[in-house]
Amino acid sequence: MATEAPPRPPLALHWKIAISLVLAFLAGLFLPEKIGPIPVLASFQFVGELFMRALQMLVVPLIATAVISAVARLGEEEAFGRLGLKTLLFYGTSTTVAVLIGLACVNSLQPGKVEPEVSQMLIASAKADSEALAAKWEGRGMGDVVGVFQRMVPVNVVEAAGQNREMLALIFFSLLFGYFMTRLPAERRNRYTLWWEDGYEVMIRMTDWVIRFTPYGVFGLVAATVASTGLAAFGPLVKFFFTVLLGLCLHLFVFFPLVLRFFGVPPFRHLKAMMPALLTAFSTASSSAALPLNIECTQKSGVSKRVASFTLPIGATVNMDGTALYECAVVLFIAQIYGVELSLGAQALVVVLSLFTSLGVAGIPAASLVAIVIILSAVGLPKEAIGIVMVVDRLLDMCRTTVNIYGDSCCAAVVAATEGEKAHYRPETAGASQ
Ligand code: ASP
Repeated sequence: MATEAPPRPPLALHWKIAISLVLAFLAGLFLPEKIGPIPVLASFQFVGELFMRALQMLVVPLIATAVISAVARLGEEEAFGRLGLKTLLFYGTSTTVAVLIGLACVNSLQPGKVEPEVSQMLIASAKADSEALAAKWEGRGMGDVVGVFQRMVPVNVVEAAGQNREMLALIFFSLLFGYFMTRLPAERRNRYTLWWEDGYEVMIRMTDWVIRFTPYGVFGLVAATVASTGLAAFGPLVKFFFTVLLGLCLHLFVFFPLVLRFFGVPPFRHLKAMMPALLTAFSTASSSAALPLNIECTQKSGVSKRVASFTLPIGATVNMDGTALYECAVVLFIAQIYGVELSLGAQALVVVLSLFTSLGVAGIPAASLVAIVIILSAVGLPKEAIGIVMVVDRLLDMCRTTVNIYGDSCCAAVVAATEGEKAHYRPETAGASQ
């Protein structure tokens, strides 16, 4: 008797995204800008932009509802201060390690020690680009490091959030708002907290819906990027590219797994659960845009809503390990290209500034360039030298954003584990957390 074959399970989202990434690379490299009347490149850009906008649409209400509802609940517990301290401790430590990895990689591999003709050529090409870039560093300087902390307190929170760049201000306001909700009389506090929690649930459902389009959005974004950047211009920057990549890989595949294992979280299972979020971060090069998926995947990996909705929105804004590593690597690389020997003190300054400026970098593509300009001028290097790395910036942005997002989810997993949520990491319970 013929038995009916069981229905095939649908392809997992991360596989769909991975396939569309491969197709996007091929399409970007080999398809022409136009096929007959069809503007191929513009169509990719349109689809990618639409997806990016849909993700960004979620960010402000998602951060506000997540942080306010999490803090309103946590504020009632004694755990609030403890959770905040653990989160900040993790973020501070992991970013410091990331910068030191960047420092070690560039110092040992010396990607900027090139033939004099090559360095002259790179410096000249950076000068040629400097006019287009000048707007980015106009009026930037050390004052901006202080400005990061100043802008944390918004004059007008709606306007700050509306700019979509002042997420730190939105988080600061939401933390306060959630905390002071706990000061309402019990009955009103509960009612109001439920209201915010419902808002958060609605946002998660909207996220679920937008996520379904990820494979198409990723295709559009990556194909357009590859088509407009190409691979030919990489030439003299190949060594720098791989030095940064090595640093990012060490942080992602060595440091984080060691930390996760130390706290009893199976690293491979966590990485697997995070794949859709990581691939989205890679494709969008935006921590903010990848935040909705990060919350979704981290909760699916077994972290409770209580921990995920508190740690991840803060992390997407202040914890940027990949970015900090990159900032440090770029400045040291540029110094090598210019033949400048940075003293130990100057290198220490680069490390400290990379750490602090990464706090204020917005979760959008190419945002760290401004921070790099600040560090360059602090150590006496010309601002326009940033033009040297522009060719490889986008691809490295995709890679560093992936590390940024993964760092946040590792923090959530570690905090969850130390809060006694380890049970969630058993296969039978993973995904059932609320
Ligand atoms: N694109 C990065 C992010 O969104 C920021 C940067 O390094 O430029 O996390």
